[in-house]
Amino acid sequence: MKGGKLIIFSAPSGSGKTTIVRHLLKQPELNLAFSVSATSRVSRGEEKHGEHYYFIKVSEFKQHIKNDDFLEWEEVYRDNFYGTLKSEVERLWAEGKNVIFDIDVAGGLRIKKKFPEVTLAVFVKPPSIDELKIRLKKRSTESDDKINMRIAKASVELATAPQFDEIIKNYDLDIALKEAHKLVADYVGVDIKN
Ligand code: 5GP
Repeated sequence: MKGGKLIIFSAPSGSGKTTIVRHLLKQPELNLAFSVSATSRVSRGEEKHGEHYYFIKVSEFKQHIKNDDFLEWEEVYRDNFYGTLKSEVERLWAEGKNVIFDIDVAGGLRIKKKFPEVTLAVFVKPPSIDELKIRLKKRSTESDDKINMRIAKASVELATAPQFDEIIKNYDLDIALKEAHKLVADYVGVDIKN
């Protein structure tokens, strides 16, 4: 597999990485395209198949694992599988794009290991676990059980931050967005006005 750069944003759920990734996708000079992951979880809210995720059945997901179709995959939460299909990255590289990922820390580090020369791995750090809890509750897309599962995982994920190339502290969203824009622009080699 050969092509443009790979930009990974990983963080505990609720840290704001999705907001940052969406902001970066709106910057045309970065020439980014979003890597749509496959997942066995059900869609929530406004999420669309093929745009936010490829929503597939667990059986189909397991078949893809058997076929070695994934660049990486994780059972991020119990019975909820998520993975990056090789075909997705190949498709976007064929379009001449730099590919941006919104994936969990284990998956992010796995991709970095596979493509160390062309990958920028960024960890987005939330102000605190308490703040994370507040943000997840405010989002109110998950049940309390699911929120607690995400919080429990967050402490483990925070410990992996030093393995990333860059850490962005998302204490103030505007500042975090600017910092992310600058980091990615530098990595893909374009100038931006501040
Ligand atoms: P959510 O259910 O909130 O959309 O995602 C849960 C977690 O799974 C998030 O941390 C998200 O970034 C991660 N995730 C999404 N797609 C992938 C993927 O393809 N691979 C891995 N390893 N994690 C993913």
